[in-house]
Amino acid sequence: MGGVSREEFLAQVGKVDRFALSVFRNFELLESQGRIVILTPSEEDLLWVREFLEAHFKGMLEEGVLSVSERGSETKPSTPFPSSNLSRRYSFSNFVVGDGNRIAYEICKHVAESPGSGYNPLFLYGNVGLGKTHLLHAVGNVAVSNGFKVVYTSANDFSEEMVEALRSKSIVQFRSKYKGVDFILIDDVQFLSGKDRTQIEFFNIFNFLYLRNKQIILAGDRPPDELSDVSDRLVSRFEGGLVVELGLDEETKRRIIELKLKELGIEPTARVVDYIYEITGSNVRDIEGKVMKFKIEGFKLKPPTPKRSAPNKVELIKKYVASYFNVEVEELSSRKSSRKINRVRHIAIYLCRELTDASMTEIARAFNRKDHSTVINSIKRIMEDSKKDRKLARIVAMLRDKLRKRI
Ligand code: ADP
Ligand code: MG
Repeated sequence: MGGVSREEFLAQVGKVDRFALSVFRNFELLESQGRIVILTPSEEDLLWVREFLEAHFKGMLEEGVLSVSERGSETKPSTPFPSSNLSRRYSFSNFVVGDGNRIAYEICKHVAESPGSGYNPLFLYGNVGLGKTHLLHAVGNVAVSNGFKVVYTSANDFSEEMVEALRSKSIVQFRSKYKGVDFILIDDVQFLSGKDRTQIEFFNIFNFLYLRNKQIILAGDRPPDELSDVSDRLVSRFEGGLVVELGLDEETKRRIIELKLKELGIEPTARVVDYIYEITGSNVRDIEGKVMKFKIEGFKLKPPTPKRSAPNKVELIKKYVASYFNVEVEELSSRKSSRKINRVRHIAIYLCRELTDASMTEIARAFNRKDHSTVINSIKRIMEDSKKDRKLARIVAMLRDKLRKRI
C-alpha cells in the first residue's frame, strides 16, 4: 500500500468521526514521504490517539504509515489544575472576531488576564453554535497558563457530579474543589432549570467565590431573566455583573467560512464561500459541518433544505417550544393543565398557526384536542396577554424568529 498525505488522512478521520477531526486538527502532523507522524501535546492525548487509530486505521498503523508520539513535556502548562476539563483546541487566536461577538471576545480576553476585576460574574448568552463554549475554554486556557486554578464544567455535569458526591458521601470534597478555584466557568446554565438542589449548592459556591473576587463566567442560550425554573436569587446574581450577547453578523460569518475552508485545505474562492454561506444559518457548528461535507461531496446541485410538510413543521414547533421551556413535548398534547403547561401550549399553538399552513383542525389534532376552538382560544390568549406582558411578547417574537429560520 502506498503512503498517505496529511490532507487525505484528515479527510478520512473526518469520515469516521467529525469530532475526532477537530481534535486531530490541533495536533501537529508531520508529513514526510507518505508517512505521517502525529505529535500530541500530552500523554492523555497520546493514549486517546492510539486507541482511535487502532480502532479505525489499524492497517496504516501496522504498516508504519502512521505513528504517534508525545511532543515532549516542555509544552505542558507548568502547573495544570487536575480537573480543569479544558480543551486546548479553543483559543483566542482561532476565534474569528467581528461585530456580533467583539464585545464578548474583548471582555473575555480582559477577564482571562485580570480575574475578578469588575466584570463579575460575566454572563455570555446566544444561540447554539456561536462560540460560547469556545470562549469559556479560551479564557480557561489563558488563565491556566498564567498559573490560575480553573474549573470548567456544564450545569448538567455540575449537577451530576454533585449527586454523585452526595451518594458517595464526598460532598465536602466536592464543595472544596469548587471553592478552591480562581476561575469557575459554567457552561449551558439553562440546564440548571428545575434542579433545585443543584441551584442551592451552586448558589453557595457562587457567593463564596464572588466575595473573594474570584472570577465567575457563565454561558447559556438565553439571558438570565429568561431562564426558566431558576430561582430568582440566582437570576439576580447572574444579572449583577455583565451580561453580553453573542451574535453572528454577515461579514464575520464569511470570514469564519473562509477560515474553516482553509483549515481543511480548501481554497476559499468566492463561489465556495457563497455556497456555504447560502446553505448555512447563524451557527458556526453548522458551518463547520457543511464545510466538511463540502470537502467530501463538493457542490450539490440543490442546497440540502428539504421542504417540510405542514404536519412536520407543527411537530418541529412543538418540540422546539417544549424544549425552550424545559417541558416534555408529550405534556403539550396531554390533558395536563398546570399554569405553566397551559401557557407553553398556548404559545406553541399560536406559533403553529402563525408559521405553518396547517389548518386549525390539524393543529388541534396535533395537540390531541378535538376541535379548532382550542386553537382560537390559544391565539386569543397570546395576543391579549402579550399586550400587557412585555416579556411574553419578547419571548414569542424571539421564538418566532428562531423557528422561521428552521422551518
Ligand atoms: P456554543 O457553545 O455557543 O454553542 P461553540 O463554542 O461550541 O458554540 O462553537 C461551535 C463551534 O464553532 C466550535 O467548534 C467553535 O470552535 C466554532 N466557532 C464558534 N464561533 C467561532 C468563531 N467566532 N471563530 C472561529 N470558530 C468559531
Ligand atoms: Mg456550548
